[in-house]
Amino acid sequence: MADPRGFLKVRERELPPNRPVEVRLRDWKDTHAHREEGQPFLKEQAGRCMDCGIPFCHQGCPLGNLIPEWNDLVWRDQWADAIERLHATNNFPEFTGRVCPAPCETSCVLGINQPAVTIKNVEVSIIDEAFERGLVTPQVPQRLTGSTVAVVGSGPAGLAAAQQLTRAGHTVVVYERDDAIGGLLRYGIPDFKLEKLHIDRRLEQMEAEGTRFRPGVAIGRDITWDALRRRFDAVVLATGATVPRELAMPGRDLGGVHFAMDFLTPANKAAAGNPVDGAPSAAGKHVVIIGGGDTGSDCLGTSLRQGAASVTTLAIGKKPPLERSASQPWPTDPIVFEVSTSHEEGGERSYLASTVEFVGGEDGNVRALKVAETEYLPDGRRVPKEGTEREIPADLVLIAMGFTGPETDELVAQTGAELTTRGLVRRGDDYATSLPGVYATGDAGRGQSLIVWAIAEGRATAAAVDAYLQGSSELPAPVGPRTVALRG
Ligand SMILES: Cc1cc2nc3c(=O)[nH]c(=O)nc-3n(C[C@H](O)[C@H](O)[C@H](O)COP(=O)(O)OP(=O)(O)OC[C@H]3O[C@@H](n4cnc5c(N)ncnc54)[C@H](O)[C@@H]3O)c2cc1C
Ligand code: SF4
Repeated sequence: MADPRGFLKVRERELPPNRPVEVRLRDWKDTHAHREEGQPFLKEQAGRCMDCGIPFCHQGCPLGNLIPEWNDLVWRDQWADAIERLHATNNFPEFTGRVCPAPCETSCVLGINQPAVTIKNVEVSIIDEAFERGLVTPQVPQRLTGSTVAVVGSGPAGLAAAQQLTRAGHTVVVYERDDAIGGLLRYGIPDFKLEKLHIDRRLEQMEAEGTRFRPGVAIGRDITWDALRRRFDAVVLATGATVPRELAMPGRDLGGVHFAMDFLTPANKAAAGNPVDGAPSAAGKHVVIIGGGDTGSDCLGTSLRQGAASVTTLAIGKKPPLERSASQPWPTDPIVFEVSTSHEEGGERSYLASTVEFVGGEDGNVRALKVAETEYLPDGRRVPKEGTEREIPADLVLIAMGFTGPETDELVAQTGAELTTRGLVRRGDDYATSLPGVYATGDAGRGQSLIVWAIAEGRATAAAVDAYLQGSSELPAPVGPRTVALRG
Protein backbone atom coordinates (compact mmCIF):
# COMPACT_ATOMS: atom_id res chain seq x y z
CA MET A 1 0.00 0.00 0.00
CA ALA A 2 1.33 3.42 -0.96
CA ASP A 3 0.69 5.59 2.08
CA PRO A 4 -1.41 3.99 4.85
CA ARG A 5 -2.65 7.44 5.92
CA GLY A 6 -2.75 8.98 2.43
CA PHE A 7 -6.53 9.08 2.16
CA LEU A 8 -6.78 10.70 5.59
CA LYS A 9 -4.18 13.38 4.85
CA VAL A 10 -5.49 14.30 1.36
CA ARG A 11 -9.26 14.26 1.12
CA GLU A 12 -9.78 16.12 -2.19
CA ARG A 13 -9.13 15.21 -5.80
CA GLU A 14 -6.59 17.33 -7.64
CA LEU A 15 -6.19 17.30 -11.40
CA PRO A 16 -3.94 19.22 -13.78
CA PRO A 17 -5.60 22.44 -14.98
CA ASN A 18 -7.20 22.70 -18.40
CA ARG A 19 -5.90 25.42 -20.71
CA PRO A 20 -7.97 28.64 -20.48
CA VAL A 21 -11.07 28.45 -22.69
CA GLU A 22 -10.27 31.63 -24.65
CA VAL A 23 -6.80 30.24 -25.50
CA ARG A 24 -7.78 26.69 -26.39
CA LEU A 25 -10.68 27.77 -28.60
CA ARG A 26 -8.09 29.31 -30.93
CA ASP A 27 -6.47 25.97 -31.75
CA TRP A 28 -7.16 22.22 -32.03
CA LYS A 29 -4.62 21.13 -29.43
CA ASP A 30 -5.37 19.13 -26.28
CA THR A 31 -7.59 21.04 -23.88
CA HIS A 32 -5.40 19.84 -21.01
CA ALA A 33 -2.25 21.72 -20.11
CA HIS A 34 1.01 20.03 -21.03
CA ARG A 35 2.69 17.89 -18.40
CA GLU A 36 5.88 19.97 -18.44
CA GLU A 37 4.03 22.38 -16.19
CA GLY A 38 4.33 19.74 -13.48
CA GLN A 39 1.97 17.79 -11.28
CA PRO A 40 3.32 17.94 -7.74
CA PHE A 41 0.03 16.52 -6.51
CA LEU A 42 0.21 13.31 -8.59
CA LYS A 43 2.06 11.34 -5.92
CA GLU A 44 -0.37 12.56 -3.26
CA GLN A 45 -3.30 11.42 -5.38
CA ALA A 46 -1.76 7.99 -6.03
CA GLY A 47 -1.08 7.84 -2.28
CA ARG A 48 -4.80 8.22 -1.53
CA CYS A 49 -5.38 4.69 -2.91
CA MET A 50 -6.25 2.39 0.01
CA ASP A 51 -5.15 -0.88 -1.69
CA CYS A 52 -8.54 -2.32 -0.77
CA GLY A 53 -8.87 -6.03 0.01
CA ILE A 54 -11.43 -6.20 -2.78
CA PRO A 55 -10.49 -3.48 -5.28
CA PHE A 56 -13.84 -2.72 -6.93
CA CYS A 57 -12.03 -0.47 -9.42
CA HIS A 58 -10.77 -3.71 -11.07
CA GLN A 59 -14.36 -4.63 -11.77
CA GLY A 60 -15.27 -1.11 -12.91
CA CYS A 61 -12.52 -1.21 -15.55
CA PRO A 62 -13.38 -3.62 -18.40
CA LEU A 63 -9.65 -4.22 -18.89
CA GLY A 64 -9.23 -5.21 -15.26
CA ASN A 65 -6.43 -2.66 -14.91
CA LEU A 66 -4.33 -3.36 -11.78
CA ILE A 67 -5.02 0.09 -10.38
CA PRO A 68 -3.85 -0.24 -6.74
CA GLU A 69 -0.57 -1.81 -7.94
CA TRP A 70 0.36 1.09 -10.19
CA ASN A 71 -0.87 3.71 -7.74
CA ASP A 72 1.61 2.25 -5.26
CA LEU A 73 4.44 2.25 -7.81
CA VAL A 74 3.77 5.87 -8.82
CA TRP A 75 3.79 6.88 -5.17
CA ARG A 76 7.19 5.19 -4.88
CA ASP A 77 8.50 6.83 -8.08
CA GLN A 78 9.03 3.40 -9.70
CA TRP A 79 7.97 4.36 -13.23
CA ALA A 80 9.45 1.37 -15.07
CA ASP A 81 7.51 -1.06 -12.89
CA ALA A 82 4.39 1.11 -13.08
CA ILE A 83 4.28 0.99 -16.90
CA GLU A 84 5.01 -2.73 -16.86
CA ARG A 85 1.95 -3.33 -14.62
CA LEU A 86 -0.20 -0.96 -16.71
CA HIS A 87 0.80 -2.53 -20.01
CA ALA A 88 0.10 -5.97 -18.54
CA THR A 89 -3.62 -5.28 -18.97
CA ASN A 90 -3.89 -2.31 -21.35
CA ASN A 91 -2.20 -2.04 -24.74
CA PHE A 92 -3.02 1.66 -25.14
CA PRO A 93 -3.24 3.59 -21.86
CA GLU A 94 -2.46 6.81 -23.76
CA PHE A 95 -5.96 6.57 -25.31
CA THR A 96 -7.95 5.45 -22.26
CA GLY A 97 -6.00 7.77 -19.95
CA ARG A 98 -7.23 10.65 -22.10
CA VAL A 99 -10.75 9.83 -23.23
CA CYS A 100 -12.10 6.98 -21.11
CA PRO A 101 -15.13 8.04 -19.04
CA ALA A 102 -13.37 6.18 -16.19
CA PRO A 103 -16.01 3.83 -14.80
CA CYS A 104 -13.18 2.68 -12.46
CA GLU A 105 -13.50 5.96 -10.58
CA THR A 106 -17.21 5.53 -9.97
CA SER A 107 -16.46 2.15 -8.35
CA CYS A 108 -13.43 3.33 -6.30
CA VAL A 109 -14.06 2.38 -2.65
CA LEU A 110 -12.88 5.80 -1.49
CA GLY A 111 -15.82 7.18 -3.49
CA ILE A 112 -18.26 5.90 -0.85
CA ASN A 113 -17.53 8.83 1.43
CA GLN A 114 -14.80 10.88 -0.32
CA PRO A 115 -14.05 11.93 -3.89
CA ALA A 116 -12.51 8.97 -5.78
CA VAL A 117 -8.78 8.62 -6.51
CA THR A 118 -7.87 10.35 -9.80
CA ILE A 119 -7.19 6.98 -11.44
CA LYS A 120 -7.44 8.12 -15.04
CA ASN A 121 -4.93 10.93 -14.53
CA VAL A 122 -2.48 8.56 -12.82
CA GLU A 123 -2.90 6.21 -15.80
CA VAL A 124 -2.12 8.84 -18.44
CA SER A 125 0.79 10.17 -16.37
CA ILE A 126 2.37 6.69 -16.25
CA ILE A 127 2.25 6.21 -20.01
CA ASP A 128 3.36 9.77 -20.83
CA GLU A 129 6.26 9.46 -18.41
CA ALA A 130 7.11 6.04 -19.90
CA PHE A 131 7.27 7.44 -23.44
CA GLU A 132 9.41 10.35 -22.21
CA ARG A 133 11.80 8.01 -20.41
CA GLY A 134 12.11 5.67 -23.43
CA LEU A 135 10.41 2.83 -21.56
CA VAL A 136 7.99 1.96 -24.38
CA THR A 137 10.00 -0.30 -26.64
CA PRO A 138 8.99 -2.90 -29.26
CA GLN A 139 8.15 -6.36 -27.84
CA VAL A 140 9.33 -8.43 -30.79
CA PRO A 141 8.13 -12.07 -30.69
CA GLN A 142 10.81 -14.67 -29.96
CA ARG A 143 9.54 -17.04 -32.65
CA LEU A 144 7.10 -16.91 -35.54
CA THR A 145 4.27 -19.43 -35.74
CA GLY A 146 3.91 -19.30 -39.53
CA SER A 147 0.20 -18.52 -39.20
CA THR A 148 -1.30 -15.44 -40.84
CA VAL A 149 -4.12 -13.21 -39.59
CA ALA A 150 -5.93 -10.35 -41.34
CA VAL A 151 -7.48 -7.69 -39.12
CA VAL A 152 -10.11 -5.64 -40.97
CA GLY A 153 -10.48 -2.21 -39.36
CA SER A 154 -7.85 -0.26 -37.41
CA GLY A 155 -9.80 1.20 -34.48
CA PRO A 156 -8.81 0.37 -30.91
CA ALA A 157 -10.33 -3.13 -31.11
CA GLY A 158 -8.45 -4.06 -34.30
CA LEU A 159 -5.20 -2.52 -33.04
CA ALA A 160 -5.37 -4.33 -29.68
CA ALA A 161 -6.08 -7.67 -31.40
CA ALA A 162 -3.26 -7.04 -33.89
CA GLN A 163 -0.70 -6.17 -31.21
CA GLN A 164 -1.54 -9.21 -29.10
CA LEU A 165 -1.48 -11.58 -32.09
CA THR A 166 1.79 -10.16 -33.45
CA ARG A 167 3.45 -10.55 -30.07
CA ALA A 168 2.21 -14.17 -30.00
CA GLY A 169 4.24 -14.77 -33.16
CA HIS A 170 1.55 -14.63 -35.86
CA THR A 171 2.01 -12.60 -39.02
CA VAL A 172 -0.67 -9.88 -38.85
CA VAL A 173 -1.83 -7.46 -41.52
CA VAL A 174 -4.25 -4.65 -40.56
CA TYR A 175 -6.45 -3.37 -43.40
CA GLU A 176 -8.09 0.06 -43.10
CA ARG A 177 -10.29 1.67 -45.75
CA ASP A 178 -9.50 5.20 -44.55
CA ASP A 179 -6.27 6.92 -45.58
CA ALA A 180 -4.84 6.67 -42.05
CA ILE A 181 -4.80 4.07 -39.29
CA GLY A 182 -6.77 4.57 -36.06
CA GLY A 183 -10.51 4.16 -36.71
CA LEU A 184 -12.57 6.59 -34.65
CA LEU A 185 -9.45 7.55 -32.69
CA ARG A 186 -8.13 9.13 -35.90
CA TYR A 187 -11.11 10.73 -37.63
CA GLY A 188 -13.92 10.54 -35.07
CA ILE A 189 -12.54 11.94 -31.83
CA PRO A 190 -11.23 15.49 -32.31
CA ASP A 191 -7.63 16.49 -31.60
CA PHE A 192 -8.67 18.66 -28.66
CA LYS A 193 -9.56 15.39 -26.87
CA LEU A 194 -6.90 13.15 -28.43
CA GLU A 195 -3.97 14.57 -30.39
CA LYS A 196 -2.97 12.21 -33.18
CA LEU A 197 0.70 12.05 -32.19
CA HIS A 198 -0.42 9.57 -29.54
CA ILE A 199 -1.68 7.19 -32.24
CA ASP A 200 1.39 7.68 -34.42
CA ARG A 201 3.97 6.86 -31.77
CA ARG A 202 2.08 3.69 -30.77
CA LEU A 203 1.92 2.65 -34.44
CA GLU A 204 5.70 3.05 -34.67
CA GLN A 205 6.07 0.55 -31.83
CA MET A 206 3.62 -1.85 -33.48
CA GLU A 207 5.39 -1.65 -36.85
CA ALA A 208 8.72 -2.34 -35.16
CA GLU A 209 7.13 -5.41 -33.56
CA GLY A 210 6.14 -6.67 -37.00
CA THR A 211 2.48 -5.67 -37.48
CA ARG A 212 1.87 -4.62 -41.08
CA PHE A 213 -0.53 -1.79 -41.89
CA ARG A 214 -2.42 -1.32 -45.14
CA PRO A 215 -4.37 1.96 -45.02
CA GLY A 216 -6.54 2.97 -47.99
CA VAL A 217 -7.68 -0.61 -48.64
CA ALA A 218 -11.40 -1.40 -48.28
CA ILE A 219 -12.00 -5.11 -47.87
CA GLY A 220 -15.01 -6.10 -49.95
CA ARG A 221 -14.19 -3.42 -52.54
CA ASP A 222 -10.40 -3.21 -53.16
CA ILE A 223 -9.85 -6.83 -52.09
CA THR A 224 -12.82 -9.20 -52.25
CA TRP A 225 -13.80 -11.18 -49.19
CA ASP A 226 -13.03 -14.49 -50.93
CA ALA A 227 -9.54 -13.32 -51.92
CA LEU A 228 -8.81 -12.18 -48.37
CA ARG A 229 -10.13 -15.37 -46.84
CA ARG A 230 -7.98 -17.51 -49.14
CA ARG A 231 -4.87 -15.53 -48.22
CA PHE A 232 -5.12 -15.72 -44.40
CA ASP A 233 -5.49 -18.50 -41.85
CA ALA A 234 -7.83 -16.39 -39.69
CA VAL A 235 -9.65 -13.07 -40.05
CA VAL A 236 -10.74 -10.60 -37.38
CA LEU A 237 -13.60 -8.27 -38.33
CA ALA A 238 -13.08 -5.04 -36.38
CA THR A 239 -15.08 -2.78 -38.64
CA GLY A 240 -16.90 -0.69 -36.01
CA ALA A 241 -20.56 0.30 -35.76
CA THR A 242 -20.76 3.34 -37.95
CA VAL A 243 -24.37 3.44 -39.22
CA PRO A 244 -25.90 6.61 -37.74
CA ARG A 245 -29.38 6.63 -36.16
CA GLU A 246 -31.70 8.58 -38.49
CA LEU A 247 -34.20 11.28 -37.50
CA ALA A 248 -36.92 10.97 -40.12
CA MET A 249 -38.79 14.26 -39.69
CA PRO A 250 -40.31 16.64 -42.25
CA GLY A 251 -37.53 18.69 -43.84
CA ARG A 252 -34.83 16.06 -43.30
CA ASP A 253 -33.53 16.53 -46.87
CA LEU A 254 -33.00 20.31 -46.52
CA GLY A 255 -29.50 21.67 -47.06
CA GLY A 256 -27.57 22.16 -43.82
CA VAL A 257 -28.92 19.04 -42.05
CA HIS A 258 -26.13 16.47 -41.57
CA PHE A 259 -25.18 13.43 -39.58
CA ALA A 260 -22.56 14.27 -36.95
CA MET A 261 -19.83 12.18 -38.57
CA ASP A 262 -20.28 13.99 -41.92
CA PHE A 263 -19.21 17.08 -39.97
CA LEU A 264 -16.63 15.62 -37.55
CA THR A 265 -14.66 13.47 -39.99
CA PRO A 266 -13.79 16.29 -42.43
CA ALA A 267 -13.17 18.65 -39.49
CA ASN A 268 -10.62 16.15 -38.15
CA LYS A 269 -9.06 15.81 -41.59
CA ALA A 270 -8.81 19.61 -41.85
CA ALA A 271 -7.13 19.73 -38.43
CA ALA A 272 -4.62 17.20 -39.80
CA GLY A 273 -3.89 19.57 -42.72
CA ASN A 274 -6.10 17.82 -45.31
CA PRO A 275 -9.23 19.96 -45.79
CA VAL A 276 -12.14 18.29 -47.60
CA ASP A 277 -13.85 20.33 -50.35
CA GLY A 278 -17.52 21.10 -49.67
CA ALA A 279 -17.44 19.86 -46.06
CA PRO A 280 -20.06 21.43 -43.78
CA SER A 281 -18.69 24.24 -41.65
CA ALA A 282 -20.07 25.91 -38.53
CA ALA A 283 -18.33 29.24 -39.18
CA GLY A 284 -20.74 32.11 -38.50
CA LYS A 285 -23.72 29.75 -38.23
CA HIS A 286 -26.40 29.02 -35.67
CA VAL A 287 -25.73 25.36 -34.96
CA VAL A 288 -28.19 22.96 -33.37
CA ILE A 289 -26.90 19.54 -32.27
CA ILE A 290 -29.51 16.83 -31.71
CA GLY A 291 -28.18 14.38 -29.13
CA GLY A 292 -26.41 15.00 -25.85
CA GLY A 293 -23.77 12.20 -25.80
CA ASP A 294 -20.03 12.08 -26.58
CA THR A 295 -20.56 12.65 -30.30
CA GLY A 296 -22.77 15.69 -29.62
CA SER A 297 -20.17 17.09 -27.24
CA ASP A 298 -17.44 16.65 -29.88
CA CYS A 299 -19.66 18.48 -32.42
CA LEU A 300 -20.00 21.32 -29.89
CA GLY A 301 -16.23 21.75 -29.32
CA THR A 302 -15.61 21.54 -33.08
CA SER A 303 -18.37 24.10 -33.90
CA LEU A 304 -17.01 26.56 -31.34
CA ARG A 305 -13.49 26.23 -32.78
CA GLN A 306 -14.83 26.78 -36.31
CA GLY A 307 -16.44 30.05 -35.13
CA ALA A 308 -20.16 29.24 -34.82
CA ALA A 309 -22.47 32.19 -34.01
CA SER A 310 -24.35 30.03 -31.49
CA VAL A 311 -24.56 26.36 -30.55
CA THR A 312 -27.52 24.65 -28.90
CA THR A 313 -27.47 21.00 -27.89
CA LEU A 314 -30.83 19.28 -27.57
CA ALA A 315 -31.54 16.16 -25.54
CA ILE A 316 -34.92 14.45 -25.70
CA GLY A 317 -34.77 13.17 -22.09
CA LYS A 318 -34.65 14.75 -18.65
CA LYS A 319 -31.54 16.45 -17.32
CA PRO A 320 -29.67 13.71 -15.39
CA PRO A 321 -29.22 14.19 -11.63
CA LEU A 322 -26.06 15.90 -10.34
CA GLU A 323 -25.38 13.11 -7.84
CA ARG A 324 -25.97 9.35 -8.09
CA SER A 325 -29.58 8.44 -7.38
CA ALA A 326 -30.65 5.77 -4.88
CA SER A 327 -31.38 3.42 -7.78
CA GLN A 328 -27.74 3.67 -8.97
CA PRO A 329 -25.77 2.99 -5.81
CA TRP A 330 -22.00 2.63 -5.49
CA PRO A 331 -20.18 0.75 -7.14
CA THR A 332 -22.33 1.00 -10.27
CA ASP A 333 -21.46 3.47 -13.01
CA PRO A 334 -24.31 5.98 -12.62
CA ILE A 335 -25.90 8.21 -15.23
CA VAL A 336 -25.28 11.72 -13.89
CA PHE A 337 -25.08 15.21 -15.38
CA GLU A 338 -21.70 15.54 -17.05
CA VAL A 339 -19.77 18.63 -18.08
CA SER A 340 -17.22 17.80 -20.78
CA THR A 341 -14.40 20.15 -21.71
CA SER A 342 -16.53 21.21 -24.71
CA HIS A 343 -19.45 22.09 -22.42
CA GLU A 344 -17.08 24.30 -20.42
CA GLU A 345 -16.32 26.22 -23.61
CA GLY A 346 -19.80 27.49 -24.47
CA GLY A 347 -23.13 26.63 -26.06
CA GLU A 348 -26.52 26.03 -24.51
CA ARG A 349 -27.92 22.68 -23.37
CA SER A 350 -31.64 22.09 -23.59
CA TYR A 351 -33.41 19.03 -22.12
CA LEU A 352 -36.86 17.52 -22.73
CA ALA A 353 -36.63 18.82 -26.30
CA SER A 354 -38.35 16.70 -28.98
CA THR A 355 -37.60 17.60 -32.56
CA VAL A 356 -40.78 17.96 -34.65
CA GLU A 357 -39.61 19.45 -37.94
CA PHE A 358 -36.64 20.89 -39.81
CA VAL A 359 -37.96 24.23 -41.11
CA GLY A 360 -36.63 25.37 -44.50
CA GLY A 361 -36.01 28.79 -45.99
CA GLU A 362 -36.64 29.83 -49.61
CA ASP A 363 -33.11 28.80 -50.59
CA GLY A 364 -33.76 25.13 -49.74
CA ASN A 365 -31.58 25.28 -46.64
CA VAL A 366 -32.68 24.76 -43.07
CA ARG A 367 -33.46 28.02 -41.23
CA ALA A 368 -34.90 26.73 -37.94
CA LEU A 369 -35.66 23.64 -35.95
CA LYS A 370 -39.17 23.17 -34.57
CA VAL A 371 -39.06 21.48 -31.17
CA ALA A 372 -41.68 20.64 -28.55
CA GLU A 373 -41.43 19.72 -24.90
CA THR A 374 -41.04 15.96 -24.38
CA GLU A 375 -43.97 14.27 -22.68
CA TYR A 376 -43.54 10.85 -21.00
CA LEU A 377 -46.53 8.54 -21.62
CA PRO A 378 -47.55 6.00 -18.93
CA ASP A 379 -45.98 3.20 -21.06
CA GLY A 380 -42.63 5.04 -20.99
CA ARG A 381 -42.78 6.32 -24.58
CA ARG A 382 -41.59 9.89 -25.19
CA VAL A 383 -43.71 12.09 -27.45
CA PRO A 384 -43.81 15.82 -28.32
CA LYS A 385 -46.34 17.60 -26.07
CA GLU A 386 -49.03 19.31 -28.11
CA GLY A 387 -49.12 23.10 -28.03
CA THR A 388 -45.52 23.49 -26.78
CA GLU A 389 -43.79 23.88 -30.15
CA ARG A 390 -41.16 26.59 -30.56
CA GLU A 391 -38.60 27.42 -33.24
CA ILE A 392 -34.85 27.57 -32.67
CA PRO A 393 -32.92 29.44 -35.39
CA ALA A 394 -30.59 27.00 -37.12
CA ASP A 395 -28.55 27.06 -40.30
CA LEU A 396 -26.53 23.96 -39.48
CA VAL A 397 -28.20 20.96 -37.80
CA LEU A 398 -26.10 17.99 -36.70
CA ILE A 399 -27.80 14.68 -35.91
CA ALA A 400 -25.79 12.98 -33.15
CA MET A 401 -28.26 10.39 -31.92
CA GLY A 402 -25.93 7.43 -31.78
CA PHE A 403 -25.28 4.52 -34.11
CA THR A 404 -27.45 1.53 -34.92
CA GLY A 405 -24.71 -0.99 -35.79
CA PRO A 406 -22.12 -2.01 -38.37
CA GLU A 407 -22.48 -1.37 -42.09
CA THR A 408 -23.78 -4.58 -43.59
CA ASP A 409 -24.33 -3.77 -47.26
CA GLU A 410 -20.80 -4.42 -48.57
CA LEU A 411 -18.21 -6.46 -46.65
CA VAL A 412 -20.51 -8.18 -44.15
CA ALA A 413 -22.93 -9.09 -46.97
CA GLN A 414 -20.03 -10.65 -48.93
CA THR A 415 -18.93 -12.73 -45.94
CA GLY A 416 -22.42 -14.09 -45.31
CA ALA A 417 -21.78 -13.89 -41.53
CA GLU A 418 -24.91 -14.21 -39.40
CA LEU A 419 -26.22 -11.08 -37.71
CA THR A 420 -28.13 -10.62 -34.45
CA THR A 421 -31.65 -9.17 -34.36
CA ARG A 422 -29.97 -5.80 -33.58
CA GLY A 423 -27.96 -6.06 -36.81
CA LEU A 424 -24.61 -6.72 -35.08
CA VAL A 425 -22.22 -9.46 -36.19
CA ARG A 426 -23.27 -12.57 -34.24
CA ARG A 427 -20.55 -14.14 -32.06
CA GLY A 428 -20.21 -17.21 -29.93
CA ASP A 429 -18.66 -17.04 -26.45
CA ASP A 430 -15.20 -17.03 -28.02
CA TYR A 431 -15.89 -14.13 -30.46
CA ALA A 432 -16.15 -16.62 -33.38
CA THR A 433 -18.68 -15.67 -36.05
CA SER A 434 -20.80 -18.21 -37.90
CA LEU A 435 -17.88 -18.62 -40.38
CA PRO A 436 -14.93 -20.89 -39.52
CA GLY A 437 -11.75 -18.96 -38.64
CA VAL A 438 -13.55 -15.60 -38.72
CA TYR A 439 -13.90 -13.55 -35.54
CA ALA A 440 -15.67 -10.26 -34.78
CA THR A 441 -14.54 -7.76 -32.17
CA GLY A 442 -15.26 -4.29 -30.82
CA ASP A 443 -18.21 -2.18 -31.88
CA ALA A 444 -18.95 -4.47 -34.88
CA GLY A 445 -20.13 -7.15 -32.45
CA ARG A 446 -20.98 -5.13 -29.32
CA GLY A 447 -22.55 -2.06 -30.91
CA GLN A 448 -21.20 1.49 -30.42
CA SER A 449 -19.44 1.45 -27.07
CA LEU A 450 -16.23 2.81 -25.56
CA ILE A 451 -12.52 2.61 -26.31
CA VAL A 452 -11.84 0.67 -23.13
CA TRP A 453 -14.34 -2.00 -24.20
CA ALA A 454 -12.88 -2.09 -27.72
CA ILE A 455 -9.36 -2.71 -26.33
CA ALA A 456 -10.66 -5.32 -23.88
CA GLU A 457 -12.54 -7.13 -26.68
CA GLY A 458 -9.54 -6.90 -29.02
CA ARG A 459 -7.34 -8.55 -26.38
CA ALA A 460 -9.89 -11.30 -25.71
CA THR A 461 -10.43 -11.91 -29.42
CA ALA A 462 -6.68 -12.30 -29.90
CA ALA A 463 -6.70 -15.04 -27.25
CA ALA A 464 -9.51 -16.84 -29.11
CA VAL A 465 -7.77 -16.54 -32.49
CA ASP A 466 -4.47 -17.72 -30.99
CA ALA A 467 -6.24 -20.77 -29.51
CA TYR A 468 -7.86 -21.49 -32.90
CA LEU A 469 -4.47 -21.36 -34.64
CA GLN A 470 -2.34 -23.07 -31.98
CA GLY A 471 -4.77 -25.34 -30.12
CA SER A 472 -4.44 -23.33 -26.89
CA SER A 473 -3.47 -19.82 -25.81
CA GLU A 474 -1.88 -18.07 -22.87
CA LEU A 475 -3.08 -14.65 -23.97
CA PRO A 476 -5.44 -12.89 -21.52
CA ALA A 477 -9.17 -12.58 -22.18
CA PRO A 478 -10.47 -9.80 -19.90
CA VAL A 479 -14.07 -9.79 -21.15
CA GLY A 480 -16.48 -12.05 -22.98
CA PRO A 481 -18.68 -10.84 -25.83
CA ARG A 482 -21.64 -10.70 -23.48
CA THR A 483 -19.91 -9.11 -20.46
CA VAL A 484 -21.76 -5.91 -19.57
CA ALA A 485 -20.86 -2.76 -17.64
CA LEU A 486 -21.61 -2.40 -13.94
CA ARG A 487 -24.57 -0.07 -14.61
CA GLY A 488 -27.15 0.99 -12.04
C1 LIG B 1 -17.53 11.17 -32.29
C2 LIG B 1 -17.23 10.04 -31.35
C3 LIG B 1 -16.61 10.33 -30.14
C4 LIG B 1 -16.31 9.31 -29.26
N1 LIG B 1 -15.70 9.63 -28.09
C5 LIG B 1 -15.36 8.64 -27.23
C6 LIG B 1 -14.69 8.95 -26.01
O1 LIG B 1 -14.44 10.11 -25.69
N2 LIG B 1 -14.34 7.92 -25.19
C7 LIG B 1 -14.60 6.61 -25.51
O2 LIG B 1 -14.23 5.71 -24.75
N3 LIG B 1 -15.26 6.29 -26.66
C8 LIG B 1 -15.63 7.28 -27.52
N4 LIG B 1 -16.29 6.96 -28.68
C9 LIG B 1 -16.56 5.53 -29.00
C10 LIG B 1 -15.27 4.84 -29.51
O3 LIG B 1 -14.60 5.67 -30.40
C11 LIG B 1 -15.64 3.51 -30.18
O4 LIG B 1 -16.37 2.72 -29.27
C12 LIG B 1 -14.36 2.74 -30.60
O5 LIG B 1 -13.57 3.51 -31.48
C13 LIG B 1 -14.74 1.42 -31.27
O6 LIG B 1 -13.58 0.80 -31.74
P1 LIG B 1 -13.61 -0.26 -32.93
O7 LIG B 1 -12.18 -0.64 -33.13
O8 LIG B 1 -14.58 -1.33 -32.63
O9 LIG B 1 -14.18 0.50 -34.20
P2 LIG B 1 -13.81 1.86 -34.93
O10 LIG B 1 -12.97 2.75 -34.09
O11 LIG B 1 -15.09 2.40 -35.44
O12 LIG B 1 -12.89 1.40 -36.16
C14 LIG B 1 -13.42 0.61 -37.19
C15 LIG B 1 -12.58 0.83 -38.44
O13 LIG B 1 -12.89 -0.14 -39.41
C16 LIG B 1 -12.76 0.45 -40.69
N5 LIG B 1 -13.49 -0.36 -41.67
C17 LIG B 1 -14.83 -0.58 -41.72
N6 LIG B 1 -15.13 -1.37 -42.78
C18 LIG B 1 -13.94 -1.65 -43.41
C19 LIG B 1 -13.60 -2.41 -44.56
N7 LIG B 1 -14.54 -3.03 -45.29
N8 LIG B 1 -12.30 -2.48 -44.92
C20 LIG B 1 -11.34 -1.83 -44.19
N9 LIG B 1 -11.61 -1.09 -43.09
C21 LIG B 1 -12.90 -1.00 -42.70
C22 LIG B 1 -13.37 1.82 -40.48
O14 LIG B 1 -12.95 2.73 -41.48
C23 LIG B 1 -12.83 2.18 -39.10
O15 LIG B 1 -11.61 2.89 -39.20
C24 LIG B 1 -16.64 7.96 -29.58
C25 LIG B 1 -17.29 7.67 -30.78
C26 LIG B 1 -17.58 8.70 -31.66
C27 LIG B 1 -18.28 8.39 -32.94
S1 SF4 C 1 -9.14 2.23 -18.83
FE1 SF4 C 1 -10.82 3.58 -18.14
S2 SF4 C 1 -11.88 2.32 -16.61
FE2 SF4 C 1 -9.87 1.37 -16.91
S3 SF4 C 1 -8.49 2.29 -15.36
FE3 SF4 C 1 -8.31 3.54 -17.22
S4 SF4 C 1 -9.77 5.20 -16.97
FE4 SF4 C 1 -10.33 3.58 -15.52
